[in-house]
Amino acid sequence: MSTHRITNAIRIRAGQTPEKEHSTPLFLTSSFCYDDAEEMRAVFADEKEGNIYSRFSNPSVQEFVDRLAALEGAETGFATASGMSSIVATFLTFLKKGDHLLVCNAIFGSTHTIITKYLPKYGIEYTYVNTDPSTWDAAIRPTTRMVFLETPTNPGLEIVDLAAAGAVARKHNLLFNVDNCFATPIGQTPIDFGADLVVHSATKWLDGQGRVLGGAVLGRKELIKDVYLFCRSTGPSLSPFNAWVLSRSLETLDVRMERHSSNALYLAQALENHPAIASLRYPFLPSHPQHAIAKKQMKNGGGIFCFDLKGGLEAGRKFLDNLRMLSLTANLGDTRSIASHPASTTHAKLTPEERAAVNITPGLIRISVGLEHRDDILSDIKKGLAS
Ligand SMILES: *Cc1c(COP(=O)(O)O)cnc(C)c1O
Repeated sequence: MSTHRITNAIRIRAGQTPEKEHSTPLFLTSSFCYDDAEEMRAVFADEKEGNIYSRFSNPSVQEFVDRLAALEGAETGFATASGMSSIVATFLTFLKKGDHLLVCNAIFGSTHTIITKYLPKYGIEYTYVNTDPSTWDAAIRPTTRMVFLETPTNPGLEIVDLAAAGAVARKHNLLFNVDNCFATPIGQTPIDFGADLVVHSATKWLDGQGRVLGGAVLGRKELIKDVYLFCRSTGPSLSPFNAWVLSRSLETLDVRMERHSSNALYLAQALENHPAIASLRYPFLPSHPQHAIAKKQMKNGGGIFCFDLKGGLEAGRKFLDNLRMLSLTANLGDTRSIASHPASTTHAKLTPEERAAVNITPGLIRISVGLEHRDDILSDIKKGLAS
């Protein structure tokens, strides 16, 4: 297994354009001009490198893609307007009528909607499997073409063994597609474990400041070429402005994730035995059921932990009402700490059985740990738990 080495220079300077400006200029333009008819012909004919139209490519967007690809250890990538458009682009580029998708049961809500509501309209079939790759063989069909997963999962923080999932994908010749939103490339690089495609919601930790939406697909050149051709026609391209913001954000991703995860570990340890909490999950706590896998594939435990309140649904709502500092919002991955109660909000539409299958108990609280002082966050969470 090759381990991609992320140096500090890659984190901070990768993809910088060789211009005179210290910060790469923002190319806020919809299209590009040529010196003469011959240059225009050559660029359109793919004989000369150049930009044509910002739905296809744009230097500010390319800078963001190059930086993220360097962090993920990917050959290249394509950036889109949101995480969802990146995920949909991988499905619609690589799956066709009659194909079958293997998907882990604990995935982002909108991804679940795409798979169950829209893919069947185009004749694409799917099977949900659990987070243990050793059980997947039975679900694989001759038409299975892709396996899609997230790890750590949202909001239950289960860990999927990426090396084991990669081995199943290789054995059955499946495209291995990983949503790396929760860990970020600072926490784990799925390509090192056999992923063919890595998708991101840049809206979360990559921006990290709750400002812009964005997404990206990373992978080998021949795969990304197909994603590019699909996107250049269908038009989910990332705005150059958002890309420019995101490129600046990537320069601080490493230091931010270091602090987000050290804060999260501190809080998880401090709260694990709180009398109002039935159980608490954080990948880098020895009590996590998949702690050993987390330690094997992750460089830090990430910025999210979750706990189950003994008081159930009502206690969950009361917890949110008692907080004074933490934000109540559906987003995650921000400088400011965020609390959410999935059973009454993001996952309220699921049946109780569906929630139970992905470990969403009525009293589950998810905390996205910010960059505030760790004792300020702890004191606010304790206020929430005081009732
Ligand atoms: C938010 C999120 C997405 C969707 O990203 P958007 O940028 O909101 O479209 C996909 N996957 C995960 C794990 C997410 O948290």
